[in-house]
Amino acid sequence: METPEQTLRGVLQTIENAAKLAGRPRAVRLLAVSKTRTAGEVRALAAAGQRAFGENYVREGADKAAELAALGLEWHLIGHLQSNKCREAAGAFDWVQSLDRPKLVAGLDRARPAGRPPLNVLVQVNVDGEASKSGCAPEDVGALAGLVAGASNLRLRGLMAIPEPHPDPARRRATLRRLRALFDQLAADHPGVDTLSMGMSDDFELAIAEGATMVRIGTALFGPRPTPAHD
Ligand SMILES: *Cc1c(COP(=O)(O)O)cnc(C)c1O
Repeated sequence: METPEQTLRGVLQTIENAAKLAGRPRAVRLLAVSKTRTAGEVRALAAAGQRAFGENYVREGADKAAELAALGLEWHLIGHLQSNKCREAAGAFDWVQSLDRPKLVAGLDRARPAGRPPLNVLVQVNVDGEASKSGCAPEDVGALAGLVAGASNLRLRGLMAIPEPHPDPARRRATLRRLRALFDQLAADHPGVDTLSMGMSDDFELAIAEGATMVRIGTALFGPRPTPAHD
């Protein structure tokens, strides 16, 4: 069996190759998605050099972050955020990638503890327009991003999306391209914007080819999850 370090190296190598192939000047960041994984599994990957971890649930992420606080890891919330969880999220995470409505801007801004650097924020956009999913409509990105940029305890960093895993590769590619165009527009409007978070275990090479600057990978790092924990 591969050690966590070997698995991590393999994934990082694949990311690097995809970035090179796409002629990308900047490194693509890896977010290790640790939902449903134990603190011990996170610790093992951290020992192999991984710093950034993503969680879907506020409480689960806050507990792991607290248990592993001594390691100084970077924690990202990537799951749907209820407004009554803003306080806990703003204290436990370094990034919130799932900001998708104005109410969360005020909630997170108010709740970010004094003395901490601003909370990094990605606006989650729903490019497929599915009613069941989180994410704001593409035409609302500009206004929402403007609110984030104007909040003193938040720092607008870019966009996050979870595109529908469409069987047709041409359709998948077209969706990723639309996200890239939205991201380019946002970056033109806001100089601090540097992060386009798209791509998971099944499609991260394609996502990198289409402009992802951060990929969120769970299964390819930790193996299959016992139960599907998303959507
Ligand atoms: C679970 C999850 C991932 C990782 O998915 P894998 O297929 O295990 O790589 C990435 N992003 C989000 C938002 C998720 O919920």
